[in-house]
Amino acid sequence: MITKTFSQEGALGKAIPGFQPRQAQLDMAEAVRKAIKDQSQLVIEAGTGTGKTFAYLVPALLSGKKTIISTGSKNLQEQLFHRDLPLMTSALGFYGQVALLKGRANYLCIERLGRQMIESHGTHTDPTLLTQLVKVRSWASESKSGDLGECDAIAEDSPVIPTITSTNDNCLGKDCPNYTECFVLKARKKALDADVVVVNHHLFMADLAIKETGFGELIPEAEVFIFDEAHQIPDIASQYFGQSLSSRQIQELAKDIEIGYRTEAKDMRQLQKVADKLVQSASDLRICLGEPGFRGNWREAINSPSIAREVERVREAIDFAIEVLKLVLGRSQLLDVAFERAHTIKGRIDRVCDVSITGYSYWFDTTPRHFSLHITPLSVADKFHEQIELKQGTWIFTSATLAVNDDFGHFTSRLGLKPSAQFSLPSPFDYPTQARLCVPRYLPEPNSPGLADKLVTMLAPLIEQNQGRCFFLCTSHSMMRELGERFREVLSVPVLMQGETSKQKTLAEFMELGNALLVATGAFWEGIDVRGDTLSCVIIDKLPFTAPDDPLLKARIEDCRLKGGDPFAQVQLPDAVITLKQGVGRLIRDKKDKGALIICDNRLVTREYGGVFLASLPAIPRTRDLGVIEDFLHQISVTNNQD
Ligand code: SF4
Repeated sequence: MITKTFSQEGALGKAIPGFQPRQAQLDMAEAVRKAIKDQSQLVIEAGTGTGKTFAYLVPALLSGKKTIISTGSKNLQEQLFHRDLPLMTSALGFYGQVALLKGRANYLCIERLGRQMIESHGTHTDPTLLTQLVKVRSWASESKSGDLGECDAIAEDSPVIPTITSTNDNCLGKDCPNYTECFVLKARKKALDADVVVVNHHLFMADLAIKETGFGELIPEAEVFIFDEAHQIPDIASQYFGQSLSSRQIQELAKDIEIGYRTEAKDMRQLQKVADKLVQSASDLRICLGEPGFRGNWREAINSPSIAREVERVREAIDFAIEVLKLVLGRSQLLDVAFERAHTIKGRIDRVCDVSITGYSYWFDTTPRHFSLHITPLSVADKFHEQIELKQGTWIFTSATLAVNDDFGHFTSRLGLKPSAQFSLPSPFDYPTQARLCVPRYLPEPNSPGLADKLVTMLAPLIEQNQGRCFFLCTSHSMMRELGERFREVLSVPVLMQGETSKQKTLAEFMELGNALLVATGAFWEGIDVRGDTLSCVIIDKLPFTAPDDPLLKARIEDCRLKGGDPFAQVQLPDAVITLKQGVGRLIRDKKDKGALIICDNRLVTREYGGVFLASLPAIPRTRDLGVIEDFLHQISVTNNQD
């Protein structure tokens, strides 16, 4: 059946113009079919261009079993749901139900919108806010899904969104007067009735972690679980199997207490005092934690007397909130829930302040206005394995980057997986013809002073000659900023820098310009798909080892050492290999793409471990001569212009 479906005369051949059967795609589809039949675990690395999405969709749809598909991001989720899934359902004549399910924060909460409207009519009216709320209300009356991503009236990062969406903490649940109209519940109901549900890893893991407490989950039970971009799961799972407390949660609680006071308990002046104290104590602790954009060790930080004092103040503010809210119990749903939330926050403060428990990393991070305190388990393997055992069924993990030198141990051990099959499928691209890899000669040492200047001097002529069409992927924000500024001084082609506008807008601008250099970090290393001659060169500043002072990495290193392992070989190196594979994967996106990859790190050729990186990358011909790369890029331009 699978072979026939993937043939030129089969369902896919008929539905997709120019469809060419690919052995790797067929092998993957067959393995997925078998795993579904046997209810087993399957891990597949499918190189770029294998067509892995159809390779799992077809057997899943043909199986008729309830399936959850989880992708790496909301964008990929939408792409799968709106583009790939409809194509496959119509090709296969699948008449089952399909549903898209996002996290709560994406759906309008009618109850909270109503309260915000009342509140914004009060004394402190902000006219822009009120206009936005009115627009959202009129959109909501027409919307079927309540998905705020579909509402043009507010930007995707609008500060209004958290005030009109719900969280597990503040949702009124069955006591909500809008329960029957609730968009979150409607989305959940749709997911319950559907045969195939598309979610994302953050939602899946958040839900799995909630299920441990048996409260508030959205994702229905299923027989088949498929994870695309699965390499992201261990880190995402760690976030959700831990616990966090953020100043945002405290401020949101304060905000709701204030709304409750203004709308339903006007005689309780103390409530205003409670709200003020919560906001003040949270912002004092934020200031005390120092510079924004910092990640630090919480175990060490809490030893500082000033930080300990501010934490104590937050604790007192919460205790005060609990005392006052107790006096208004039964008068307002909002304040009743606030009472419970205050208790939850108190529990979390106690938990993050008890730094004596082993097996966890205690860390904090700061943004300009907020802080978050986190406890992250060093390993989620046991918990994840437990969940798999509990749920039973088929578990399939796939991505273009799972193996390190053909070994899947790094991935499977972090999740406690016991796959009955695991293998890599080669990319169908002809790398020896399509690409070149260069580690230039005379490179400065990584982290040496003046590195950015030297790289700019070395690479600006090549970028200029190539008329931009280049990604410069950096391993740190500081390097990105330095390089971006220097390149702007010397290049005549446009230089875009990540963070100056949204990721999607930056990418759209890069494609539209057609001759730009994009200097980026983090988010641009993966999930970006620029085809054709708009992107013909990817430069990487150095091997992407995570900074050893990252508290999470530090904790994993410590854990590995305690277990008698080799942290470099078992933690740092495999992490860096997977990241490098992702970055390299930006270059060749289809059979017609051609381009050059430049990695500015001597260690790739001088250190023994460089071999592990090289063995994990596609077979791209290598050179140390930048001149060879210039010629190769020039040749690509000439050929493209002739076309
Ligand atoms: S049930 Fe929860 S999410 Fe739904 S409208 Fe009510 S408060 Fe909002």
